Amino acid sequence: MATITLEGVSKAFKGKPAVDGVDLSIDDGQFLIIVGPSGCGKTTTLRMLAGFERPTSGVVRIGGRVMNDVPPKDRDLAMVFQNYALFPHMTVAKNLAFGMRVRRVDRKVIDREVASIASMLGIEALLGRKPAELSGGERQRVALGRALLRKPKAFLLDEPLSNLDAALRAQMRFELKRIHAQFPVTTVYVTHDQVEAMTMADRIALMEGGRLQQVAAPEVLYSEPANTFVAGFVGSPKINLIPGQVVRDARRPTIRSMSCDIPVDGTAGAVLASLPHDNVVIGLRPEELRPRRPATGGLPAVRGVIELIEPLGSETHVALRVGGHVLTCKCPPRAGLEVGSEISVEFDPEHMKVFDGDTGMRLG
Ligand code: ATP
Repeated sequence: MATITLEGVSKAFKGKPAVDGVDLSIDDGQFLIIVGPSGCGKTTTLRMLAGFERPTSGVVRIGGRVMNDVPPKDRDLAMVFQNYALFPHMTVAKNLAFGMRVRRVDRKVIDREVASIASMLGIEALLGRKPAELSGGERQRVALGRALLRKPKAFLLDEPLSNLDAALRAQMRFELKRIHAQFPVTTVYVTHDQVEAMTMADRIALMEGGRLQQVAAPEVLYSEPANTFVAGFVGSPKINLIPGQVVRDARRPTIRSMSCDIPVDGTAGAVLASLPHDNVVIGLRPEELRPRRPATGGLPAVRGVIELIEPLGSETHVALRVGGHVLTCKCPPRAGLEVGSEISVEFDPEHMKVFDGDTGMRLG
């Protein structure tokens, strides 16, 4: 087991930065997920941890030891990459046992450990088969089993579920979490899928353009995004990000957006007064926009025309045109809504996020 740290780590290819000044510390036993859009530098970061790429600058430490010049085989890490390379000529049992056989572990111990991991991963019936006779998901589980039996200092996983269908991916997410709870080995997991990141990680490192945008627990990333990029990346359907202006002559901190005056309390409200300009962006999650019922009142509301209704069974997503903007609202099922009709939606300003319109950074 080991802590992993990256200190000011950068990597440039032909002078072009792929990873730019990453500072990241991963605790012993933590499940950290690096997430971000394609090309943001996730795989390059993982390859520097594995030892396949040397940082252009900065320091990589594993278990306190500087690793920059340590070759991959001496880092004691188990890796599962997208194309999980199993030995094609060996059975599943031999693939699983491979690491222990190299270490000349006693035969009886090997048999016991292979049986135990196979049972945990639900692949007992496959032990006599060769990789070509397995489905993608089965191969994936064998590759994970082989990595687990190595008992490494840490796991590095790069998009390990990307080849699976939606149902198997959901099942494997659950299994990986369960395995990690049972064997809490430090894990660094790369994905571009925010659902994987949100459901599995102890902590998420969100990257964009080679830089870390925010490192936090999933619920913190969701409720306290550092900037508009993070707010837009996490959550489905996406958060509504709408421009607004600070109202300077109001009695209390106020933002005008979509022709609505919205009072802003708390830290964001206090920061508004010292903002050197009037441009802000408000963030409203779709679930926080509720169709206004006649009895309610007191909360800010906007009126718009329904452009699209997506019934999903348990909830309905509605695209509402409000002036020049289209808001996504999560509504209850069978809410009696019709395309083309006008509705008002209200929201609680307490749950609204406020960002600096020039820098994109969250205020407060
Ligand atoms: P994806 O989700 O598409 O796999 P990623 O976030 O893992 O993307 P990286 O593979 O780390 O991104 O790539 C980051 C940037 O570095 C990209 O612009 C990529 O084109 C570039 N890059 C990566 N490897 C090399 C290389 N060996 N030579 C040149 N450029 C590279």
